[in-house]
Amino acid sequence: MKGLQSFYRSFYGKRFYRHFRRPDEFINENFRIQFKVETPKQLYLHVHRNSGTHPCLIHTYDYGSRGNLNKCNSDKMVFDRVFFDFDVSNNHIKKVKNQLVELRSQGPGYEKDKQVQLKDQLQKLILEDEIAKPAIEEAKDFSHHFKDVFGKYPALFFSGCKGCHAYAFFNQFKFINLNRAVSWFAGHVKKSFNYQTIDLAVTKDAQARLSRVPYSKHQLTGLAVIPFTVEDKYEVIIEKALAREVESFYREDFITDFHLHLQEIDKIEAHNAQIKENVRRNNKKQYGSNKIKFIDDHRVFFKSILGDPVKEYPEKEYVMYNCPFPGHDDKKPSFRVHRCGYYCYGCLKKGNYWQFLKDCYGWSDEGVKKHLNSLKKNNIH
Ligand SMILES: [Zn+2]
Repeated sequence: MKGLQSFYRSFYGKRFYRHFRRPDEFINENFRIQFKVETPKQLYLHVHRNSGTHPCLIHTYDYGSRGNLNKCNSDKMVFDRVFFDFDVSNNHIKKVKNQLVELRSQGPGYEKDKQVQLKDQLQKLILEDEIAKPAIEEAKDFSHHFKDVFGKYPALFFSGCKGCHAYAFFNQFKFINLNRAVSWFAGHVKKSFNYQTIDLAVTKDAQARLSRVPYSKHQLTGLAVIPFTVEDKYEVIIEKALAREVESFYREDFITDFHLHLQEIDKIEAHNAQIKENVRRNNKKQYGSNKIKFIDDHRVFFKSILGDPVKEYPEKEYVMYNCPFPGHDDKKPSFRVHRCGYYCYGCLKKGNYWQFLKDCYGWSDEGVKKHLNSLKKNNIH
């Protein structure tokens, strides 16, 4: 595609250190999912090979050097943008998508007419029934507010299906905890403007997040990820997604001082976290809760929650599940549980039972403690 490499150069930089990922929709043992990309050309080639067949995703943030990329060292990540995701949840489109994925898993030629028919149905839902409109309208509204405060619009991209992305750019900056600052910001934006479509799961672990590569085609709809402006009407956006003509991109047009605002939130939230931590430590001292040990073997614990594992490796002492986290639609299975904890190869979440109950169910430390105590009382473990 003409101009695409130069678009990627402006959007990601001349050299960058990220992972390109093309998740498979179905289980296929020999399918490689993740690749390292360091130049616009490498990215272009991956998009060229996978666009329209697989999701084309890339890390939102840069590892900063080849060494960090190789080691997946996210402590040294370079932050120069924040990415917000607006997405409509719609059961009708979900059903059609699942049917198409089911047929695809048998091969691209399997019941081809039916596959084409389902793809047309998806396009019709987006084109004629304007299913993505609520997400696009809210992203536009967000952009106006953003411009009022920070002076420039964020960069908006249609996702090729039922949502869109908004990128806020700034000059490279270090944070104590970017995830925490962005989560706080997005949560408050959602509450203040009563947005239905902003996806908070994305901002919760922003550092590990992937976004769709601009100008790649959505694997099911065939519509492209394309930039749009707050002026563009819905029909215009869809026309652009079908035409897929590369526009020029100048990062300077989008760079604001947004990071200063995030930095303030970051500082305050770091302070609040410190206070919470002190309170927790005090409570521990008082009640001696650190002496309570609930779980000896995490495989047993997860079996009681998730049932039998999808795969077992007795000789390696771990078992695999489809990832149970709501933000990760995992069909691989990617969620590994060993004696002392869990790790997901897909969404990179890791921890022990305590972390799991907090993250997966949104419980507080106190809630987890209560739950585990009641299990203990009933002698379940
Ligand atoms: Zn996962």
